[in-house]
Amino acid sequence: MAARFVLSAPSQAKLPDLGIPEVAFAGRSNVGKSSLIGRLIGSPKLVRVSRTPGRTQLLNLFEVDGQWSFVDLPGYGYAKLSKKQRKDLRGMVLGYFSDRQTLRVAVMVLDARRTEVSDDDLEMAQWILAGGHDIIAAVTKCDLVPKNRRLNNIRKIEKSLGLERGAALQCSSKSGEGKNELLGRLKDICR
Ligand code: GDP
Repeated sequence: MAARFVLSAPSQAKLPDLGIPEVAFAGRSNVGKSSLIGRLIGSPKLVRVSRTPGRTQLLNLFEVDGQWSFVDLPGYGYAKLSKKQRKDLRGMVLGYFSDRQTLRVAVMVLDARRTEVSDDDLEMAQWILAGGHDIIAAVTKCDLVPKNRRLNNIRKIEKSLGLERGAALQCSSKSGEGKNELLGRLKDICR
């Protein structure tokens, strides 16, 4: 895959219209979102851009193979934000989900070791659904969970997010597990 970083934007309005289908990635800080995007595009270094100072609270846009785009949303659940920063972030993310015409689906990145999602995750899911978008749950770090517990955890995560059975996929950026299935689903949606 050939990916390029396009730009970081403080709002949906400042994102260029690339005229190609888009996938958004949301997740709590440290959940493994950058690693997963890095795996998907085959270029972990490129995604580090989203972590550089000044860009962590912005919408980071990548173009992939000239055919579709990925938007890396700011990691949430970060306790150190001020009230004002939280409010701005909320406005930015809500604006993105309500107005981004090219958005096709949102991937929520979740931790395979958990059996329930956080309030922040629930809030994010509500924002995505309020914009009229579907959610694919990418349950990552599954390499850290024994195989016999994975499915159980996934079903609980689906349930706590109110998603249908099968809406979540087991992934691991370490082993590469789930990559092809996730890419396949995204391609089907964006085609
Ligand atoms: P982000 O803040 O959500 O972008 O999280 P990162 O992608 O930076 O990952 C946070 C930490 O989790 C890093 O130390 C990663 O090496 C680790 N990590 C990410 N994905 C996986 C995974 O699938 N398996 C394991 N074992 N560790 C992972």
